[in-house]
Amino acid sequence: MRTPPPLAGGAQGPDALQPLLTTALDALREGAAARGGPLPPGGPTTVAARLHEAATPLLPHHGTGARTALRTLVHATAQGAADPAEPLCAAHLHCPPLALAAAADLAASALNPSLDSWDQAPAASALEALLTTTLATEVHGRGDALITTGGTESNQLALLLARERATAHGRTPRILTGANAHHSLHRAAWLLGLPTPVTLPTPTGTLDPATLATALAAHTADDTDLLVTATAGTTDAGLIDPLTDIADLCATHGARLHVDAAYGGGLLFSDTHRAKLHGLDRADSVTLDLHKLGWQPAAAGILTVRDATDTHTLTHRADYLNADDDTEAGLPDLLGRSLRTTRRPDALKIAVTLKALGRTGLGALVDHVCDQAHHLADAITAHPHFDLYATPTISTVLFRPTHADDDHIAHIRRKLLTEGTAVLGRAQLEGRRWLKATLLNPHTTPDDLTTLLKLVEGTSPR
Ligand SMILES: *Cc1c(COP(=O)(O)O)cnc(C)c1O
Repeated sequence: MRTPPPLAGGAQGPDALQPLLTTALDALREGAAARGGPLPPGGPTTVAARLHEAATPLLPHHGTGARTALRTLVHATAQGAADPAEPLCAAHLHCPPLALAAAADLAASALNPSLDSWDQAPAASALEALLTTTLATEVHGRGDALITTGGTESNQLALLLARERATAHGRTPRILTGANAHHSLHRAAWLLGLPTPVTLPTPTGTLDPATLATALAAHTADDTDLLVTATAGTTDAGLIDPLTDIADLCATHGARLHVDAAYGGGLLFSDTHRAKLHGLDRADSVTLDLHKLGWQPAAAGILTVRDATDTHTLTHRADYLNADDDTEAGLPDLLGRSLRTTRRPDALKIAVTLKALGRTGLGALVDHVCDQAHHLADAITAHPHFDLYATPTISTVLFRPTHADDDHIAHIRRKLLTEGTAVLGRAQLEGRRWLKATLLNPHTTPDDLTTLLKLVEGTSPR
């Protein structure tokens, strides 16, 4: 019998990994060079055809061996990537991961701790506990946090915790949210069997305290627990709801407050921008997403809670993972830290990043992308043929060519995608379509932004 392929872990693992890593890294380098831009030219049919040619047959009778498979598929994936490390790949909250975070993630994959029981993750679970306490303290000055797969799962958990609080008191939760909120909140309400959230109009882009005050008064009832969800960093425009006013209103009306800071949460690291999140500490729960302004490879989501007992509602028993006598004997009970069972140690890459860069290092990255957004906004304002939506609050810049209609805006975006020259997003705000540049690359320079505007100008009507 042939010897089975080498393993990633153990004392021998690194020696087996080393040559494979060389192959993978060479394929990444060569794939990126073959692409030659922020994404592959040609559009979906061309990209899929090239991928199929390289990848098929995907399940051959006899395998190709590790080196060939790794080289071929890593190269094809890199050549066909929309790579956020390229400054002109700036559509979404899709960040370029730091090399050190990706290296830590490789170590996590090699060790493969699973965070559903202590006997699968002795040190990783201790590191996760340290990280969650650190992050909760950073946000609330107290409390606890759970690691999630991202903003979507964090928002889902926030609604679940609110629902369980309400039902424990025999009441129904009633969610009040802005029209500017992330779509995942509505899905979470649907998934959890909650009444459809009351959606308040946000014509200025953020939740208006007077509108919220009226809605809170209108929905107050003995059998109802009110939950307000606010946003710190809207996905489309990067706007921040007035958190202090909202926290005051929630206190007055006895409403629970969840703040979705999936995008804006990273501002906490910056001395310059932290004040924009004033009031965030008063929220009962906060969604953070360090695969946005945190430069982590996905996934790196977090839900923080002010009151550490809030998470107890996730307590769950499975004899093989957290038998009562094991817990009583001192083995940490991890099953209540998530709704998932097998769970990756996403804490490792986050912890490595926090420790390596510190608050000032992360703050400098945040400051850079916010500065670049201002630079781009200034260039748009100074340009005779472009209109700017608003001065950026975080690092999103919305703009449109003055003489383009909505169809043309969509066409410009798709033309750049098909050419492979730039990845811009789109947003529908104030009844009009805008091009969206979400700047998350800490290496972006003013020259990159000049190039970006020239590309848009080259495809715009006059
Ligand atoms: C990105 C985003 C989410 C969703 O986060 P995922 O990590 O993609 O699940 C939720 N809320 C806001 C405001 C976001 O920007």
